[in-house]
Amino acid sequence: MLTVTEHGLYCASGGFHIDPWRAVERAVITHAHSDHARPGSRSYLCAADGVEVLRVRLGRDASIAGLGYGATTRLNEVQVSFHPAGHVLGSAQIRIECRGEVWVVSGDYKTQPDPTCAAFEPVFCHTFVTESTFGLPVYRWPEPASVFAEINHWWRSNQPRARTSVLFGYSLGKAQRLLAGLDASIGPILAHRAVREFLPAYAAAGIRLPAVQPATPESIRAAGGRAIVVAPPAAGNPAWLDGSGEFATAFASGWMLLRGMRRSRGADRAFALSDHADWPGLVSAIRATGASRVLVTHGASAPLVRWLNEHGWQAEALATRFVGEIPEEPETPHRG
Ligand SMILES: [Zn+2]
Ligand SMILES: [Zn+2]
Repeated sequence: MLTVTEHGLYCASGGFHIDPWRAVERAVITHAHSDHARPGSRSYLCAADGVEVLRVRLGRDASIAGLGYGATTRLNEVQVSFHPAGHVLGSAQIRIECRGEVWVVSGDYKTQPDPTCAAFEPVFCHTFVTESTFGLPVYRWPEPASVFAEINHWWRSNQPRARTSVLFGYSLGKAQRLLAGLDASIGPILAHRAVREFLPAYAAAGIRLPAVQPATPESIRAAGGRAIVVAPPAAGNPAWLDGSGEFATAFASGWMLLRGMRRSRGADRAFALSDHADWPGLVSAIRATGASRVLVTHGASAPLVRWLNEHGWQAEALATRFVGEIPEEPETPHRG
């Protein structure tokens, strides 16, 4: 039902691509992260919750249609529907059905709770296309509530030394999840522009987040070291933090579970918080689909493929250009 072409995952019976990496006629999109939602296609279809964030990503001129979770539309011979993936706001698994055969393309997903998006829902299928960003048994996430308690404690502990807390996380999804977990009674919450540009879409979707001020050297200095700043890793450069005074930095990512990665980030602290499924999450999600066949994408898929084949599934790797939660390089922030 799906083949990998030079443009991406293609459904010939439906005449559409899923998360194409080149411009196509009709793109069906799992979510608005840049490795899944590329500009230039003639039309886009995504989950209704994802339309506004996709618009921020693709621009006002893009032709984007939304379909509510669970609703069905027909593209040529194929029934298409979107189901929550629990990854970021508007993220969806895409279910396609043609002549009684059902495939589900997971996109990126997680099974942990996240108040900023609809929870992952297993969907029965014959073939499940799963991501495997963290497809090794070593990946087991701590409970998000305990991670947020650590983050809030870290923020509070920086205040007596008048050090602004700078918390790095992806601008779409992770950053808003971080905002939702911050204890606003501790101090002012500031956010980088790349994080704030998605906030109207979150508000429109009814996601409640604390009040956030723009992060500028002036607003940071004015808070006298009591503020926390949420910013994308790529923005962690001296240019915009220049003149902000003393700060402490931290990084929130699944990669932080690996000690070597932690050292290479250059941040003072690391918090293990991922928007992807950990190993138990992957295995439980795959099992819940009832699929007999599993196609594995994203990064090092071989260990998961081997494990699935050893445990009764028919599994193989699917070569895509999705990169998962790549460890973005924050430039080491300098101390003012
Ligand atoms: Zn993603
Ligand atoms: Zn991905």
